[in-house]
Amino acid sequence: MKIAILSGKGGTGKTTVATNLLSVSDSGVLIDTDVEEPNSHLFLKPQIQKTEAIKKRYPIVDESLCDLCGACGDFCRFNAILPAKKSVLVFKELCHDCGGCQMVCPNDAIRYKERSIGMVYSGHTITGHEMHYGELTVGEISGVPIIERLREITMDDDLVLIDCPPGTACSTVAAIDSADFAILVAEPTPFGVSDMKMVVELLRDLGIAMGVVVNKDGLGDKDIYQYCESEDIQILGRIPFKKEYARKYAGGNLISQVDDEYKSIIEGILKQVMSQKEVV
Ligand code: SF4
Ligand code: SF4
Repeated sequence: MKIAILSGKGGTGKTTVATNLLSVSDSGVLIDTDVEEPNSHLFLKPQIQKTEAIKKRYPIVDESLCDLCGACGDFCRFNAILPAKKSVLVFKELCHDCGGCQMVCPNDAIRYKERSIGMVYSGHTITGHEMHYGELTVGEISGVPIIERLREITMDDDLVLIDCPPGTACSTVAAIDSADFAILVAEPTPFGVSDMKMVVELLRDLGIAMGVVVNKDGLGDKDIYQYCESEDIQILGRIPFKKEYARKYAGGNLISQVDDEYKSIIEGILKQVMSQKEVV
């Protein structure tokens, strides 16, 4: 079962829920697909056993063959290649490695070169679980190839927890593409509900079943509960707003390892999600 853990915005406790779910699972694997800002490894403290550079190609133009016909620029919908007056300009960060410019070039003037856009790190956590996380190189625009590699590595694992990027950008879509179920982590505040609605719409568009974990329960108002009831979305668990939890989190702990009450809430959430297995 592939379980995506999502949020409408950053800072709602998504990674805290994902990492603690892993720690209470018997044999789960976690992938951190928030490649622009991965931080699950800060809590899971893996011993890295493998690193892999993720590469993408970009076009190189042989000026001796190019007659500046413009076909490559007309084809590229990402504006990554631009025939100018005297030469063809290539913006490699914008290139999506589709191969199209080479196909349309009438003079066979285009070749490709590889470059690294980020890394995937794999190892075993302090809880004895397997984890993989990606890191996008600063300045790169799209982490989707890294996310796809993380999904590929764990394709055959039985229980995969996917710590997703926040929001509804294309990186989130890439992360949840193969998910069987989504846990939406949200705070009971007006902003929390508003950001959450966009993720609910995305999940419905993709046909992925979902439930909500309310983090910092008791902090805000009741809107989130009314919204979930009106939309028929199951509340999988409520994590109370407690300074004690914040203190343990700030100390870099997996809270479920140092707090029995928190652990039993997380175990309850996992049990509820696993019971969906027959449904999905
Ligand atoms: S490979 Fe595709 S995205 Fe990259 S420059 Fe060529 S047409 Fe554009
Ligand atoms: S399509 Fe080929 S020949 Fe035409 S401008 Fe691009 S690189 Fe040059």
